[in-house]
Amino acid sequence: MLIAKSIRYNNILVTRVRSLASCRKYSDTNEQRFRGKYDVIITGGGMVGCTLACAMGKNGLFSNLKILLLEGSTDKKFQLKPEYSNRVVALNQSTKSLMNSLEIWQHVEKMRLQPVRHMQVWDACSDALISFSSREILDDDVAYIVENDVLLEAVNIELKSSSVKNVDILYEAKVTGYELSKSGCQGNIVKMNNGDSYSCDLLIGADGANSAVRQAMGVQYVSWNYDQMGIVATLHLAEESANTTAWQRFLPTGPIAFLPLDSTKSSLVWTTPKSLSKELLSLPEERFVDALNDAMWKQYPRNSAVDACTSWLGSVLKRFDLPDSTERQLPPSVQSIVPGSRAAFPLGFGHSTRYVAPGVALIGDAAHRVHPLAGQGLNLGFGDVKDLVQFLSDAIYTGLDITHPSWMEKYESSRQRHNVPTQLAVDALNRLYGIELPPLVLVRSIGLQLTNAFHPIKKLIMSHAAT
Ligand SMILES: Cc1cc2nc3c(=O)[nH]c(=O)nc-3n(C[C@H](O)[C@H](O)[C@H](O)COP(=O)(O)OP(=O)(O)OC[C@H]3O[C@@H](n4cnc5c(N)ncnc54)[C@H](O)[C@@H]3O)c2cc1C
Repeated sequence: MLIAKSIRYNNILVTRVRSLASCRKYSDTNEQRFRGKYDVIITGGGMVGCTLACAMGKNGLFSNLKILLLEGSTDKKFQLKPEYSNRVVALNQSTKSLMNSLEIWQHVEKMRLQPVRHMQVWDACSDALISFSSREILDDDVAYIVENDVLLEAVNIELKSSSVKNVDILYEAKVTGYELSKSGCQGNIVKMNNGDSYSCDLLIGADGANSAVRQAMGVQYVSWNYDQMGIVATLHLAEESANTTAWQRFLPTGPIAFLPLDSTKSSLVWTTPKSLSKELLSLPEERFVDALNDAMWKQYPRNSAVDACTSWLGSVLKRFDLPDSTERQLPPSVQSIVPGSRAAFPLGFGHSTRYVAPGVALIGDAAHRVHPLAGQGLNLGFGDVKDLVQFLSDAIYTGLDITHPSWMEKYESSRQRHNVPTQLAVDALNRLYGIELPPLVLVRSIGLQLTNAFHPIKKLIMSHAAT
């Protein structure tokens, strides 16, 4: 185990790099060994936790705070490989502006990203579709597809740069328990499996969907597992093109999306029932490709009444010079997948009823988990980072304590006001499109056609998704 950078407590520089062996000495005695007091401890060095550490480290108002970032996994050496990773995220404009403000985006650009300039989402059970294009809606790219590894590396370059002086990082940090301050005045204790312990005034849980910090807070967590898996893979497309369109088709079994990577490759996110995902994962790669092309192209059973209504509405919209669903583009065909790139992830919903407790705050998936169909999970987490840093810096500026309830409550209500409606809307979409009952297909198809036709509604949706 290595502790990167120097560790200070009680204003004494203790050591620059400590090895696992020295830590073991204390665990062998089975005693809790106090290793230091920090102002802020962030548990979880995923994309959200690292970005928060970086944002706090770069903010002059926090320069007197000693911050410790605890990450359970190793400090992996990153190397950009020619093959794309199968784990990618769609990042919105708000995330880009956060990353720009932290000088992280330049590193992503130097490695690789693909802009999404057009997005087409359509229903397999009707002709209804919605499309978003950068020119039409935002005058900027709709989103950016970035590999998780690339983004984390870009964050780490800045986090470990000389512009961040007050953040210590402890890798392979296995937290076994927390003693949380009841009032926020006594400080929190973080206990490690090697017998070490740390204390802090403010503890931030960025430790993902199974957050142990959230469990220690004892807050109510509303959660359910979808009986669905998200299958991911890297796809070779049949034809070369600019490939800046993201495609998503809602099948009765769940949505399938192709996210552009470069002129010939896209990344797959395919939601399927668990039973089907097992079958799809066990198919030989050529047959999996056939299943993919079927999912994007196959004609599903249609209801003639639904078709008649949507085509009538389409003609009315056309008469008023409004876009109708017939103006669709054809999605790409898949030629092959990158060998071994198929994987599947369980999908679930999670909402922590409280994001804060005295001296403790949650961010990212620790606070909220959302279905990936709208590509919002990580973007919501970065929104948490932005707001937390903003409210905490306002509090420090006005002379308040870093655990003062007023900023923490502002953070919680601001984030829940944004996150909860997004989570519920995404959950509702997933449920709505899982139903093949003709009256419901009709309602959702008309809704989609009208939303597609009226720019102000589309703009509203896009601006919510972009923040
Ligand atoms: C198939 C799929 C596709 C997705 N696509 C998108 C997308 O397009 N756009 C988008 O915005 N989001 C997307 N998401 C969601 C996104 O991946 C998550 O929201 C995001 O990874 C959450 O980041 P996080 O840092 O909060 O949590 P995590 O990534 O879970 O990180 C938590 C970190 O905490 C560490 N940790 C946990 N416990 C401890 C402990 N006790 N001690 C120390 N460290 C600990 C872990 O090692 C980990 O590094 C997708 C998700 C899936 C499954």
